[in-house]
Amino acid sequence: MGEIRHQQYQTWLEACERWREFEALSASEVQDHQLKELNAQLSYTLANSPFYSTYWASCPRNVSSLTELSKLPFTTKEDLRGGYPSQFVAAKDSLIIRYGESTGTTGLPTSSAITYRDWILCNVAVEASVGHLFGPADMVFVSIPYELAFASYDLDRALEAIGATVVSTGALTSVCPIDRVAQMMCNVHPAGLICTPTRALRIFDMIRDIGEDPRRVGLKTLLYVGETCSSAKLTKIGKMWSVDVATAYGATETNSLGLQCELGQLHLTEDRYIFEVIDPQTGQTVKDGSSGELVVTSIATEAMPLIRYRTGDEVTVSPSGSCACGSPRRTIQHHGRLSEGYAVGGRRLNKLAVEQQVLSTRGTGLYYAAGVEGDQLVVRVQVEEGALVEKTLRSVENSVSQAFSVPCRASSVSLSSIMAAMDQMLKPGSLNLEHLRAVE
Ligand SMILES: [Zn+2]
Repeated sequence: MGEIRHQQYQTWLEACERWREFEALSASEVQDHQLKELNAQLSYTLANSPFYSTYWASCPRNVSSLTELSKLPFTTKEDLRGGYPSQFVAAKDSLIIRYGESTGTTGLPTSSAITYRDWILCNVAVEASVGHLFGPADMVFVSIPYELAFASYDLDRALEAIGATVVSTGALTSVCPIDRVAQMMCNVHPAGLICTPTRALRIFDMIRDIGEDPRRVGLKTLLYVGETCSSAKLTKIGKMWSVDVATAYGATETNSLGLQCELGQLHLTEDRYIFEVIDPQTGQTVKDGSSGELVVTSIATEAMPLIRYRTGDEVTVSPSGSCACGSPRRTIQHHGRLSEGYAVGGRRLNKLAVEQQVLSTRGTGLYYAAGVEGDQLVVRVQVEEGALVEKTLRSVENSVSQAFSVPCRASSVSLSSIMAAMDQMLKPGSLNLEHLRAVE
């Protein structure tokens, strides 16, 4: 065995042991453990990260309690963009084993780098989580982008480690476009599919379009990632495919942040990060159970440690002990990107909350788009075959108006318009009114 391979094997053993030890901690022991690791991480980061050693030189390298963390400044997505490509990399070049970049769909790209230890500390947790969903007899399609990303490889390797059969279709390739994925699913009958919720819908429609019955694929579990989803939409997807639905949460710059336990709750990866929830307006920390913006601080990262990084994600974190599985890790609910809301009538509406109202209205189908025109919320929604169109649209207007106290105008949209718009999008889950106008 080569020396590097031997070191990697030792790292893997250490990661497994570390994961098991953390799971056995009590809630107060978790805090003690995090404080110790935080102080080591602060010293390391302020000494080795070009960004932090330059701009945060006067910051303390030690805190006496976890609450003192809130006295440190935030790191923002703009900081990451400004530090592109290597200002946040604290480890030596020889230790970096992967480099990736964001898609850049919402501005300039950001970069990510990881060492083998970073990679494996994360990967053993992903392995434990997907082990609740799949096993050696299962074939699983990984239909998320592999290009420049980490999540696909992370899930891919975790599935391999639990003995599943991995089919790495990706999501953006010309070799395996979505219609080929649909046809392959009919041919080889995977038990699992990993993709965005929107892609799961598109594949379902494509299978029907080629004259096959999607339920005869035999899919058992959909693991959705890369896009948040209302419970109304998830329920519809689960029913139409007749599958269990699970999720995982993360970002390219952090890798996994939330992984499901055997009871289906999304637990925070608190062995690798400290998580705070803040009021996005004031920056003040809010209590567990209140919604706000998720802020993460690395405590075990070598390559690209981040201190108080504002994720831009709206979440609620529940206290430790709220899940019956016994894990000391707190659980999280993800309510979508803060930037994706609608500002109407002096109020800010959460995108998923709007989706929930629209898609839980009787007669609505699976697709919708919304936006603000003047002082009202405009909703375009697919109406189910057989449903009364006008009645459904008025119900949507009433439901949304009552829920959010804003005027709402609803009109129908055809499935063909939705598909024409989505098939041109890198992230079809972001469908909006402009995308529909461009194809109608
Ligand atoms: Zn749990």
